[in-house]
Amino acid sequence: MQLFKGKAQIVAANTIGIDGQKEITASHIVIATGSLPAELPFLKRDGQKVVSSDELLKLESIPENMLVVGAGAVGLEWALIYNYLGSKVTVVEIMETIIPGTDQEIAHILKNELIKQNITIHTATAIRNPRIGEKVGLDFKQEDKEWHEDFSKVLLAVAASLTARDCSRKASNSVSMQRDSFRFQKTCRPRCLRFLPAAT
Ligand SMILES: Cc1cc2nc3c(=O)[nH]c(=O)nc-3n(C[C@H](O)[C@H](O)[C@H](O)COP(=O)(O)OP(=O)(O)OC[C@H]3O[C@@H](n4cnc5c(N)ncnc54)[C@H](O)[C@@H]3O)c2cc1C
Repeated sequence: MQLFKGKAQIVAANTIGIDGQKEITASHIVIATGSLPAELPFLKRDGQKVVSSDELLKLESIPENMLVVGAGAVGLEWALIYNYLGSKVTVVEIMETIIPGTDQEIAHILKNELIKQNITIHTATAIRNPRIGEKVGLDFKQEDKEWHEDFSKVLLAVAASLTARDCSRKASNSVSMQRDSFRFQKTCRPRCLRFLPAAT
């Protein structure tokens, strides 16, 4: 096995360019470029007050309070960690239950356990209108109830987006990028089946 270090781009049907310097060819190409933390249209990461789990690993102090947006596996994992470290943690989830899509009974038991550990959880709740100053102010809406809260940190744990962007150069006749997805030319589809996107 040979290992090349650099940014890969598909430059032709069977060719990968590495940092625009070296090219290698292969009969089959597996795309396994992973994902990046997703953002909300109205709330973007600034790496300081609005962060992803990547930035939480680098914090040098424990925030006084933290809002975790998204009660999926990653959000709840970090909610527990920062709760143990001493932050006052609030979790907001837009769906009816935490860990949406999993067994309702398990989600209910887990929610009660998290509440027992002093984590505040708002399900079926939307956030909006962020105001970023010394703290991050947000408006909450849960059915007819509306309120406002300020947080030292906001963790965006709202899933991940593809990192396929920039993996292919437009110059290739057979494959190009459309937003973060690969687009194959119809006429070359059989040939392009040689690209095997990894399951995510
Ligand atoms: C906080 C957190 C906790 C998690 N906990 C768990 C857990 O407990 N259990 C679990 O199963 N999963 C967990 N996951 C998910 C898990 O990390 C991912 O599912 C897994 O890493 C995906 O592997 P991957 O190989 O597809 O992508 P990655 O691990 O992201 O690897 C992709 C690699 O491709 C490289 N790359 C990208 N673009 C290019 C390019 N153009 N050229 C060359 N290289 C490139 C990247 O630098 C990276 O090294 C967690 C994720 C997070 C964020």
